[in-house]
Amino acid sequence: MQSTAQNFTTENAMLDLSVVVPIYNENDPQNPNTDPIGELIGKITDSLEGTGLTYELICIDDGSKDGSDLRLKELVQNYPQLITVLLRRNYGQTAAMAAGFEHAQGRTIVTLDGDLQNDPADIPQLLAKLDEGYDLVSGWRKKRKDAALTRLLPSKIANWLIGKITGVKMHDTGQMLHDYGCSLKAYRKEVVADMKLYGELHRFLPALAYIEGARITELPVNHYARPYGSSKYGLGRTTRVVLDLFTVFFLKKFLTRPMHVFGLLGIISITSGMFLGVYLTFVKLILNQSIGDRPLLILAVVLLLSGVQLFCFGLLGELLMRTYHESQGRPIYRVREVVRSRVKNC
Ligand code: UDP
Ligand code: MG
Repeated sequence: MQSTAQNFTTENAMLDLSVVVPIYNENDPQNPNTDPIGELIGKITDSLEGTGLTYELICIDDGSKDGSDLRLKELVQNYPQLITVLLRRNYGQTAAMAAGFEHAQGRTIVTLDGDLQNDPADIPQLLAKLDEGYDLVSGWRKKRKDAALTRLLPSKIANWLIGKITGVKMHDTGQMLHDYGCSLKAYRKEVVADMKLYGELHRFLPALAYIEGARITELPVNHYARPYGSSKYGLGRTTRVVLDLFTVFFLKKFLTRPMHVFGLLGIISITSGMFLGVYLTFVKLILNQSIGDRPLLILAVVLLLSGVQLFCFGLLGELLMRTYHESQGRPIYRVREVVRSRVKNC
């Protein structure tokens, strides 16, 4: 359905909502007469029609080669709320989403996939949940329609691992999130603005937001089998998710106090090395035994050297973290709200 400009303002005044959709080769080569992108834009605008929200729909074309970019450019003529950002080449879903966040003007941001697997009709519910006082509401594809062995199983393991390692808990229930991989999520703008995305970190947005103190919850959402085209990912994604998990774990643990972590390990290592050294000196000088061929000697040296190295890591980490925070003007805390009395002091 073609939309009117009813829910749309052209000025830069803050909009209620920005919907961000990454799109990469979403046309269906098997069925050239279909219009997946037109269908997607129609469904999104339909779902927001009548909500009274002012919104923009930002579609990021991530270097498509199948004409998805041309279709988006055409659709801009029909939908005044549609903004199409065309990336020069294919950078990946995370970069496409980051480009969308960069262009978003809304007070809240909703992301979803461009392949019609998410249901735009869920957006109003997500926003209502956000309004209950959350910073991020993550969709949970409770009845997920993807291949069991290659998708559901790895994703179950990944969700459990991410939950355990990052320690993300929902604000209301205190439980772990069920579904990190669901792209359908709603965010407060500040939460997204705080985050820098690299690699394939979009999946870890709830974890990154949680590290910054965001209140997180989830909501069951619809999920459909891919109606057109094919998935852009295979099993290789699993290793990348695990590697990204290390990065997020590192960010969580060491972001503001690397010396505490590396320094502690360094102290443990040096102290154990010294004990061994004292023991070996005793064996050599008092008991008059040879220690040159003892594995313990090697262990003592390794422990001492690695202890010193860990200390140096800690110091370097401290320098890097200072550069990280100060170069971006990032304070080491996040303010939720400032409350002032309305009565002015004289
Ligand atoms: N996508 C993208 N760039 C890429 C790969 C994917 O923008 O390099 C988009 C894609 O168009 C879709 C979303 O990311 O909107 C999720 O991709 P896909 O549906 O292939 O992933 P799956 O649902 O199979 O996990
Ligand atoms: Mg998909």
